[in-house]
Amino acid sequence: MLKRYRKQASPIDENLCPQCGRPMVLRIATYGDNQGNQFLGCSGYPRCRMTKQII
Ligand SMILES: [Zn+2]
Repeated sequence: MLKRYRKQASPIDENLCPQCGRPMVLRIATYGDNQGNQFLGCSGYPRCRMTKQII
């Protein structure tokens, strides 16, 4: 997967989807090994399925 890194900017900018540029939103996994855990998911879901783990 191609990774692009922008220059360091505001924390908000880090929560933009690297694939489509939409804001990432807080979600809770409803299935799978991470069920019940919070993660960041693209607000463009389901058109964009980009997710990030919360560090
Ligand atoms: Zn996206």
